[in-house]
Amino acid sequence: MKDLRYCLARMEAAGRLAHVRTPVDAVHELSGISAKLEGGKALVFDHVKGYDYPLTTGMWWNRDNVAAIFDRPASDIPWLFADAVDSLKNNPVAPVVVDDAPAQEVVLPEPDLTKIPVPTHALLDGGPYFSNCVLIARDPDTGVRNSSVHRLMVTGKDRLGLLMDMGRHLRDYYERAEARGEPLEITINNGMHPAYFVAATTPSSAAPIDVDELAVASYLLGEPARLCRSETVGVEGIADAELIMEAEILPHVREPEGPFGEVSGYYATRADRWVVRVKRMTMRKNPMISTLHPGKEVWNGQGLGIEANLFRTISRQVKGLKNVYMTHGGSHYHVVLQMDPPSNGMAKNAIMAAFAAFSDLQMVTVVNSDVNIFDAEDVERALCTRCDPAKDIVIIPGAFGHELNPVVKDNMAAKMGFDCTYPVPKSPQYTRVSFADVDMSKYDIG
Ligand code: MN
Repeated sequence: MKDLRYCLARMEAAGRLAHVRTPVDAVHELSGISAKLEGGKALVFDHVKGYDYPLTTGMWWNRDNVAAIFDRPASDIPWLFADAVDSLKNNPVAPVVVDDAPAQEVVLPEPDLTKIPVPTHALLDGGPYFSNCVLIARDPDTGVRNSSVHRLMVTGKDRLGLLMDMGRHLRDYYERAEARGEPLEITINNGMHPAYFVAATTPSSAAPIDVDELAVASYLLGEPARLCRSETVGVEGIADAELIMEAEILPHVREPEGPFGEVSGYYATRADRWVVRVKRMTMRKNPMISTLHPGKEVWNGQGLGIEANLFRTISRQVKGLKNVYMTHGGSHYHVVLQMDPPSNGMAKNAIMAAFAAFSDLQMVTVVNSDVNIFDAEDVERALCTRCDPAKDIVIIPGAFGHELNPVVKDNMAAKMGFDCTYPVPKSPQYTRVSFADVDMSKYDIG
């Protein structure tokens, strides 16, 4: 079965999983350990003090962890994800609803979020946060299903604070339900195969509001995504999840939510935001709760989903593109394009195509194919030696950006592109120094 436990077993077999055996506190200590080990093997915290269930994090910390789950080389993963998104157009495989869902093995007599180990992550966070639940809802007019990931702050036994950022389909659904004075019914699903996460983070340019993005999960699972009927809401849960909360987003209710240490590396402020009431909780026997440490997990999760799509979109408009990398230092705000422009000026067209393809981007850097785009020092060298600021920087003032980025005000900020490619034709002064590629195993070096 393609569930979270299958994924943990695959990572463990590949040496990509470690267990924290010492009991840890869910408030600050657990995330303190995650912060020290971020970027390496995925983790299972076997014992969280005061709770009966273990917790996992770090599946997306690096691309080798994800590659172990999908049994592909890490460099193939962006292409696999792009093919999954393309399947929405070509041959979408609809999810199925099953009757004997593992996620409904245990039904809690009444909802009680205090039984679940939900970490308080960063030092100034306003409370415990679920950071990687997939929310499923139905369009109140058309019935089309939507899947998306939102942060949720635990504020009571059956109550959560929710962020729905601008432009998200869930918010669109909610605003139409609220206008009628009705709640929006949802399921909140925790602990799954990453296929569901990839589906839920499919950009709306690829999965518009009338498309059920769960077909992306079907493609990656190699079989229809498995859902289960809910008892208290008219929307399905994920059958193979570890935990499902049947819930509703209340109309005309706002309560304080935040602060939360976000993926941008900054705190989202506390403000009155949307409120979720949990109506029913079901789970597996001994559920493995899942959390996401804001940082590299999101950069990789987003980056892996976006790179190949960017490559295909930009390549339709400019020639010479070789590779695309969403940098780690840039959250998901900076992309490096590797291309050999067939003529002068084409790198600037690639910059514009990248901004048009993905509105969260703040910076695009274009380098030639003799630069290693995965090496920040190599990219910096190209910036210092091949970008003439007087003519090679593109600035687009007042463009739409991502609201969690503090430089973005009223959803707008300037975007900037760096053309670090050498002029065509290449002159000898841009030939990089190189040395013989010797076989080091042949040398006795003491
Ligand atoms: Mn959608």
